[in-house]
Amino acid sequence: MERTLSIIKPDGVAKNVIGEVIKRFETNGIKIAAMKMIHLTKTQAQGFYAVHKERPFYDSLTDFMTSGPIVVMVLEGKDVIAKNRKIMGATNFEEAEAGTIRKDYATNIEKNVVHGSDASETAAFEIKYFFNALEIQNK
Ligand code: ATP
Ligand code: MG
Repeated sequence: MERTLSIIKPDGVAKNVIGEVIKRFETNGIKIAAMKMIHLTKTQAQGFYAVHKERPFYDSLTDFMTSGPIVVMVLEGKDVIAKNRKIMGATNFEEAEAGTIRKDYATNIEKNVVHGSDASETAAFEIKYFFNALEIQNK
């Protein structure tokens, strides 16, 4: 079993597609092991996206991530890191495959509805960033 962090970004929450995103995880056999809605501060968003701090889009991205509430989830399942990335689609929605979350709901490269960890090390860091052990179901 593997775990990954998923975020429904402020644009996804604003578009009322929380249920639609979760449905896609569940119909693909992915378990939700933890979930909460929060509104990040700028500092919290900067800490989460610290890997991108040298990128030209860092300031805009962290502003966007604080523009409204987000839903953070721990997803669990076999190969769930790669599976979630496939369900999400490419970062740039114009290049995303048909039927992916980003192809269906993203509006630009930044407002792309969802985040998903990209490797096991980043998943471990990102899950810990939002959840403590008591908040994650362990069955
Ligand atoms: P995420 O980390 O959110 O799951 P990702 O791994 O597909 O997305 P990253 O390269 O990690 O993409 O970029 C993080 C986020 O930064 C993207 O999801 C997007 O919101 C934003 N972003 C990425 N590239 C650009 C860009 N060229 N211009 C503006 N925003 C960007
Ligand atoms: Mg990423």
